[in-house]
Amino acid sequence: MTVSFVNALTPGMRRGRPFTPAVLDEAATAGAREIYPAHRPFTAPEAEELAGVAVRLRAVFEAVAAEDNDTAAARLNRLLDDHNARPRLDRHDGEPWHLHFHGPGGTVAGDWGASCSTALAIVLGSEFADRLGVCTAPACDRVYVDVSRNGTKRFCSTACQNRVKTAAFRARAKN
Ligand SMILES: [Zn+2]
Repeated sequence: MTVSFVNALTPGMRRGRPFTPAVLDEAATAGAREIYPAHRPFTAPEAEELAGVAVRLRAVFEAVAAEDNDTAAARLNRLLDDHNARPRLDRHDGEPWHLHFHGPGGTVAGDWGASCSTALAIVLGSEFADRLGVCTAPACDRVYVDVSRNGTKRFCSTACQNRVKTAAFRARAKN
């Protein structure tokens, strides 16, 4: 979910082209629905708040990609504080008891801020800290979490992997 929000809501480069999220509420809803297909639409003010959170979450990926885990941890601790992140068991909408990472009464963007910060903190605080990454293909800065068995992911997508392979092939063909 964190990756979806960062990639849908933060401007930069995407698979070789400049990227700006056009309509924030549509981008936020599309990002959420990549993971939860039935997620309700975000309103424009919710999406704007969430985009601000996404920019701060991106900065964590960037610090890890720069091998600066101290900065990543400091940024995450501020995010956890600012969103009042804390574990809490909840039961609602006919679901069984399940763990939330935010308290009651927050905004939807703030709640996602708490959940996404907690998720990144769990990864950063584990032996898999270096699994957070920023795409290394040219003209792309989309983020990823590497869940491959051997941890060798370097690109946000197969599209970027193929762009790099094709460029390398062309470079060899020219020589
Ligand atoms: Zn990419």
